[in-house]
Amino acid sequence: MFRILRYPIIISLISSGYFLFISEYFKLLDNNVLKREIVNKEIIEDKKEIILDKQEKITSSNIKKSIDKIQYDQKNIEILQGDTFVSILENLNFKQKKIYEIVSKIEDSFDLKKIKTGEIISVFENNFGEIKKIEFFKDPETIISINLDQEIDLNIRELTKESFVESKEYTILESLFSDGIKNDVSPDILVKIIGLFSFDLDFQRDIRVNTLVSISYEFDEIIETGKLVYNDIKYASIIIDGKQLEYFKFITDDGYVDYFNREGKNVKKSILKTPLDGAKISSSFGMRKHPISGFNKMHKGVDFAAPTGTPIYAGGNGIIEYVGRNGGYGKYIRIRHNNGYKTAYAHLSNYKKGISKGVRVNQGEVIGYVGSTGNSTGPHLHYEIIYQNKHINPLKLKLPSGKILEGEELEKFKEEYKIIYADHLSMLYE
Ligand SMILES: [Zn+2]
Repeated sequence: MFRILRYPIIISLISSGYFLFISEYFKLLDNNVLKREIVNKEIIEDKKEIILDKQEKITSSNIKKSIDKIQYDQKNIEILQGDTFVSILENLNFKQKKIYEIVSKIEDSFDLKKIKTGEIISVFENNFGEIKKIEFFKDPETIISINLDQEIDLNIRELTKESFVESKEYTILESLFSDGIKNDVSPDILVKIIGLFSFDLDFQRDIRVNTLVSISYEFDEIIETGKLVYNDIKYASIIIDGKQLEYFKFITDDGYVDYFNREGKNVKKSILKTPLDGAKISSSFGMRKHPISGFNKMHKGVDFAAPTGTPIYAGGNGIIEYVGRNGGYGKYIRIRHNNGYKTAYAHLSNYKKGISKGVRVNQGEVIGYVGSTGNSTGPHLHYEIIYQNKHINPLKLKLPSGKILEGEELEKFKEEYKIIYADHLSMLYE
């Protein structure tokens, strides 16, 4: 039962939230968006059981619970390819004037274009077959409800949620992502972990079989629907060949959510080692057996195998110095960074709209897409890091880290990370 249920949920999670979460994660890294505070924290005794319970709730999608007590007949309409909110109202035989009134009422507070295929619109009919109410989700935590009495009345309702912290530990046999899925870790969380470690690790080369991953993260359960919304990573550790990399969440004095190691050093580096969507490339872990070329005298960069169209991120903050065809490099971008570094990206299938010479980009911002233009045998990214006009090996790059905590802030961090770590261990082993 559990296995049968699990896959559709995972697939729908991947397809709906996947790219959103990548971009959200990098926004988090770059803008340090302050996330919602945890309302209450609960240590979960038997994690597996609780998760199972929730996933069953998702599928039964108990929307009925959230509806007023008046006796209405509820019809759930799934939005199919090609449907619009208006076309659905037309199918329900609403008059054009009424449709216009309803739509303009909603669009005061919600952009109806944001409703996606697969989402549900619920309509409620009274005994005479008149639709008296329309409801749909604005986001997993919010319902928009339109009452259709004499006047059209719009109601936005926040659903109740409960917050949890959960810990997991697993060994990589294939890839961080696929083994994470096998260990019931949400794809949303896996994408965040890959983003967090992409400053330190090249997921195609550094991860070895028997790498140990240990993580703790926050999530909310929406009580009415059973839906889970994943929030911040609290703790993440990767141990490769006995070498440990670990990061703790910390809200800095200036109010940013950020990640630091035990010494209070920030996760951020001035240039990324892996300027690609880590989940995409980590899935080609098998490439290790047939390594695509690494850095040497003849080959002054590193190649990352990834499907055509995979987004390429700016390796660091900087200014676009070159965009265009460049001989064997095919479609090519070069960025000038402020500290004597440049990064170059070759064989692209396309450039991101708006990327042109002189444009300022932020680390993690999409600049183009993986392809196979120029001298290339298959889709991959050729990535070069140039320091004072000399090519250096991105894989051996040691760059200064970002913010380092000091003084009272460091003391505060040390107290907090000890609590995070103790909670993590107790959730794993008690
Ligand atoms: Zn190359």
